[in-house]
Amino acid sequence: MDRLTVQSPAKLNLVLDVVAKRPDGFHELRTIFERISLSDQITLRRKNNNKITITCNHPQVPTGPSNLVYKAAKLLANDFSITEGLDINIIKNIPVAAGLAGGSSNAAAVLAGLNRLWRLGLRPQELAEYAARLGSDITFFLYNTSFALGTGRGELIQPLALKTKLWHVLVTPRVKMLTQDIFTRLKLNLTNKKDNVNILLPFLRKGDMLRLAGALSNDLEPAILSLRPDFIYIKKKLLDAGAIGVCFSGSGPSVFALAESQKHALSIRAQFDKRFTQVFVISTL
Ligand code: ATP
Repeated sequence: MDRLTVQSPAKLNLVLDVVAKRPDGFHELRTIFERISLSDQITLRRKNNNKITITCNHPQVPTGPSNLVYKAAKLLANDFSITEGLDINIIKNIPVAAGLAGGSSNAAAVLAGLNRLWRLGLRPQELAEYAARLGSDITFFLYNTSFALGTGRGELIQPLALKTKLWHVLVTPRVKMLTQDIFTRLKLNLTNKKDNVNILLPFLRKGDMLRLAGALSNDLEPAILSLRPDFIYIKKKLLDAGAIGVCFSGSGPSVFALAESQKHALSIRAQFDKRFTQVFVISTL
């Protein structure tokens, strides 16, 4: 096998509770991840040189060593003494620095892809250890699950066996928001100390859309709005357009709405002006 093409989907956070600041500087989180039907496509090609090269159709994605997929490939190449070259092509559909973990998903796809292409024989637990070394959101994407509970920095994953399929409208302003900037602005004492994960889970399990809509929450919202107070407008506009619930994903600025059906989601999307924001109709993957 000389080449391999894999899909690399984005995520939403239906709940994001920040529980505490840890001595290592990271925050302790409790989050519910949802894998969504918005994906990048990654092709890995073995090369006869000794270089790792990256090509990407999106101008804001770095193609050098700072790309997470480069770090993922380099880590495995070093540990397994792989000297052959590799070309990684990323077709980027997931908005960049938008709270959708596109880079993390790409890194997970490359770890799992190279395990096959280079026949490394890594077991799921070993792949998860590599993922956790590279970042907090990567491990989730190694699991073939629609929903999962994430704890620790977000890297400890408990897949949730749920049959629920959700429809969303995703609105992403054309503005980059860096996760680190948002955590820096977070005032922990102001965050909600309710157990939002356990409040939401029964509604997600039952597919009780109205209560689920009311239970969406993100502790990073005050920090996101302190940087961009105008983004409250996106939530308001989605609600005015008929969404049953709205929430920021991750560290923003993406906002997602919960819709009752695909048809409902399409009718909400029709009310957005796509010159200023990217608007997607997506579902649970
Ligand atoms: P997270 O929630 O994991 O922080 P995000 O959706 O907020 O993710 P990403 O799209 O992963 O953010 O990008 C964050 C930064 O990482 C970008 O500014 C970009 O320069 C850099 N980056 C590195 N590798 C990638 C990649 N493969 N795809 C997108 N961005 C990447």
